[in-house]
Amino acid sequence: MALTGAGISVPSGIPDFRTPGTGLWENVDPMEVAHIDAFHADPARFWSFYRPRFAELRSKAPNRAHAALAELERRGLIQAVITQNIDRLHRAAGSKRVIEVHGSIETSSCTSCEASFSMASLDGLFGDDGVAECSACCGKVKPDVVLFGEFLPEAAMEEATALCEAADLVICVGSSLEVYPVAGLPSAALNRGARLAIITQGLTPYDPDATVKLEGDVIEELEAVLAELPASSASQPSL
Ligand code: ZN
Repeated sequence: MALTGAGISVPSGIPDFRTPGTGLWENVDPMEVAHIDAFHADPARFWSFYRPRFAELRSKAPNRAHAALAELERRGLIQAVITQNIDRLHRAAGSKRVIEVHGSIETSSCTSCEASFSMASLDGLFGDDGVAECSACCGKVKPDVVLFGEFLPEAAMEEATALCEAADLVICVGSSLEVYPVAGLPSAALNRGARLAIITQGLTPYDPDATVKLEGDVIEELEAVLAELPASSASQPSL
């Protein structure tokens, strides 16, 4: 299994949340714009923050660290990627089984009738007030990303937990592993005897439990790992 966070998308030009100078929350209080209550109370303000952010995310391309994880899946060496990122770059890089536990910018949904809208059709839903309105029922349309104050998608978390419990190894990339419930996934794996490899700059609460901790650039570290592994799981020597 691989478990990824904001750090894997930094080389794609997507700032992580709290890096001084570039972090998304440097100049804005997340509770004022990214909370579900803020969305309902002032959707125009919500969208004035998110609309340009989504437009920027849509312009980003996956980097070689995303490609390395897609390649590990192609070789049969990892089963899936669990990600906290909403940028859909794992899929763009070719990963097939991606569990987006914080949702994705790929779709948005009506909060009244649950109609679903693609990223491409979202732009056409905005009125002069800067709020995205459902074309079927005029309800408020919300991106399918998990906001503060919302629960994580239950099915995605169940799938992620089951995969971690069955894994031999969980490779955690670019996540500080501090935000629950995702931060509980490495312990679910450890409790079932899996090993942890952490590729993240800075400390994580799981560093003492990790078999391997790498602090370098995510692209360099993942490509170095890839270079040492067999081209397909079928050619792995039997031990
Ligand atoms: Zn609707």
